[in-house]
Amino acid sequence: MSPLSPSRLEYNRRYYWSHHDQVLEGARRYYQRHREKILAENKLPEKRKRLTAAALARRIANPAHYREICRQFRKRRKAETLKHYSPSLTCQRCGFADIRALSIDHVKGGGHRHVTSIGGTEAFYLWLKKNKYPPGFQVLCMNCQFIKREEQNELGKDNHFDSKPR
Ligand SMILES: [Zn+2]
Repeated sequence: MSPLSPSRLEYNRRYYWSHHDQVLEGARRYYQRHREKILAENKLPEKRKRLTAAALARRIANPAHYREICRQFRKRRKAETLKHYSPSLTCQRCGFADIRALSIDHVKGGGHRHVTSIGGTEAFYLWLKKNKYPPGFQVLCMNCQFIKREEQNELGKDNHFDSKPR
């Protein structure tokens, strides 16, 4: 967005105060109608890059603290996502309950290719949320995922080594 001219800013300011209630009511309605979209957009990388100078300075001054905050955020989002598919946060095959070794499994396979095409695990969680947690996914522990891949002979067609032609 390009900066507004001073006369335009002045006009906006006067309009804002003379129509204060309508402006607030309009904003409230817009937010209610587009809440999901606004919240999802605020999490997009390009939005998150638009930091205030102060926030950026804080990050630079204390990178360890910032990394920790990000780690906690990812942890919360992972739990939030997995709960939609397994409210008890357990593997849906064997019942394993340590979230560190649980992840979202694509029931029909092709998960690695799908997640990579979206842009990685974090983007994938956001994608699930945006799509209102569609069916076709389940929570499995890594053991069960490897066993499932072996059973369905997925190892040959969808793993890290042949997802990209070389
Ligand atoms: Zn399991």
